Amino acid sequence: MKLTILGCYAATPRTFTNPTSQVLEINNEVFLIDCGEGTQVELRRNKVKFGKIKHVFISHLHGDHFYGLIGLISTFMLLNRKTELHVYGPKGIKEIITLQLKFSNSWTGYPLYFHELSSTAPEIILTTKKVIVETIPLKHRIYCNGFLFREQPKPRKLLMEEVAKYPIDVAYYKGIKKGKNAVLPDGTIIPNKQLTADPEPPKSYAFCSDTAYHPEIVEQIEKGTALYHESTFLEEHAYLAAPTGHSTAREAGAIARAANVEQLVLGHFSTRYDSILPFKAEAEDVFSQVVLADDGKSFNF
Ligand SMILES: [Zn+2]
Repeated sequence: MKLTILGCYAATPRTFTNPTSQVLEINNEVFLIDCGEGTQVELRRNKVKFGKIKHVFISHLHGDHFYGLIGLISTFMLLNRKTELHVYGPKGIKEIITLQLKFSNSWTGYPLYFHELSSTAPEIILTTKKVIVETIPLKHRIYCNGFLFREQPKPRKLLMEEVAKYPIDVAYYKGIKKGKNAVLPDGTIIPNKQLTADPEPPKSYAFCSDTAYHPEIVEQIEKGTALYHESTFLEEHAYLAAPTGHSTAREAGAIARAANVEQLVLGHFSTRYDSILPFKAEAEDVFSQVVLADDGKSFNF
């Protein structure tokens, strides 16, 4: 899994920081998560191929999370895209985007599908060969979802030195990897657990922005490989967090600790701070595996 941060700052774009957008690559499938202003420029800067993006996930309809979407959709059209594009986001997103396309008389030449979300309970919104995506309902000033990306379970590992002890045709390997027992030509059954080992556990990535401190998500994201959690504020501004539907770095650390994830990635920093280093220090008070997102930074999990 490779995560590339295109933007991870709150509210207004600046010359040196971008609002929220990131690219998650899992086994060659590419997902765009949020699409703040500047996203298409950052995609180019980070050499993400436009054609590989087939699914865009929008957490909520605050501008710093989706004002780059109409520009990206328009650029895809100008580049003569033919492959379909799927947009997942809150109810209303279809009306907003199609209104702009309508008044500019610029309908896309490629199929554009909207998957509007309104459930306040987690729901699976995409299943591909390799990945399952579900919503993580968050607590913000408007309807907002995080997204949980889980690898599909992998096939069991063949223990070749065991398999070679028996006359098992190659044609049966696929079934054995799926958990079937082997049946020899004389009818003898070799139990699957003798021939295979457990696969690597599926990896997962949880994107959680924007949200107030919301421990209700812990169960859903438990033991994940990586958690991106917003940390808009430091403790000195904790009094602003709850009323604005945001979290502090320390609260993000508390969620990571409770969920027992492997890695916490902090982002959605308020632009009021000159340095983001104190965010790491404050989260590390409660959770040890903390890294800071930053625009243009990539992580491999
Ligand atoms: Zn917001």
